[in-house]
Formats: sequence, C-alpha cells, structure tokens
Amino acid sequence: MGWRSISSRGGGYSNVSTNKQELGKLGEVLVVQNCSCPRCKRDNVLQRLPQNFRCADVICDFCGYLGQVKASTSINLDLVPKRIPGAAWGVQRDRMKAGFFFPLFIVLVKSKTEFAIYYLSADLQTKKMFVPRKKLSDQAQRAGWQGFMYDMDSVADRVIRLV
Ligand SMILES: [Zn+2]
Repeated sequence: MGWRSISSRGGGYSNVSTNKQELGKLGEVLVVQNCSCPRCKRDNVLQRLPQNFRCADVICDFCGYLGQVKASTSINLDLVPKRIPGAAWGVQRDRMKAGFFFPLFIVLVKSKTEFAIYYLSADLQTKKMFVPRKKLSDQAQRAGWQGFMYDMDSVADRVIRLV
C-alpha cells in the first residue's frame, strides 16, 4: 500500500487528489513511515488500524497510543488549511460530551514526493474547533447524515509541523 499502489495505477498526483479513500490511506501511510510515537518516542512503532476501527487511524504497537489522521491535498505545504472536512458529527459530539479527544495528524499532500505532516495534540484541542455541518438533504445518497468540519483557523497557533 502507499506509493506503489498509487503510482501503479499510472495516475500519480491526479489520482491522489481525486480519490478520497486513497488519499486517506496515503495520509496514514505517510504518518506511519515518517513519525515516531508522540507518547513513547519510539521510531517505527505506529501502525495503521483497520478501516472499521472508528475512533482512530493509527496505533502505537508499543504503548497503545491512538491517533487520528486527516489527509488533504494542498499546493502550499507551509500553510494548514483553514477548514478540513471531518467525519460524522454525532460520533464526535458524543465523544466530546464524554471528554474524549484524540491527537490529530494533518497530512498535506502536494505530489507523490512532496508532503507535510502537522500535529495537534489532544490536550490543545477545543470543542469549538469541531463545527457541525448541515445534514445532507433527502436527495443525497446518505440522506440525513451530518458531518463536521475542523476549524483549523481557530487553533492555528496550537498546531506544530513535524515533517
Ligand atoms: Zn508509543
């Protein structure tokens, strides 16, 4: 998975930018390959979790640290986008009510070889940065589904660049 699976399709960059699932996978691969565990500080310990594991995308196979990964295409790797699409709002809202926040890796992908990885620790996240979106209309494929956006602008001074 990762570079090879994308380049073997012959599309390179354009596939990266058009295929959301592939982009998500690429983001996780880049984190696993380039980041040490933020908690135990070891190298090569982060692993991708299976798709159906909902609360996190990577886990440390030494200390059990869990993290989420969001990937986004970008032409400027020096700037975190102001808003990044999140996932399901209901789940996020329930987690916040229970006081659960997960560290967030933000992977910006410019091309097959150009990327940046930013990090926002769970301790520095705010409830305000999770902004609910409108429910999908009755005509939509997932009618009634409601997502959220990460308002990265509101936490811009808390995000650090790792790679
Ligand atoms: Zn660890």
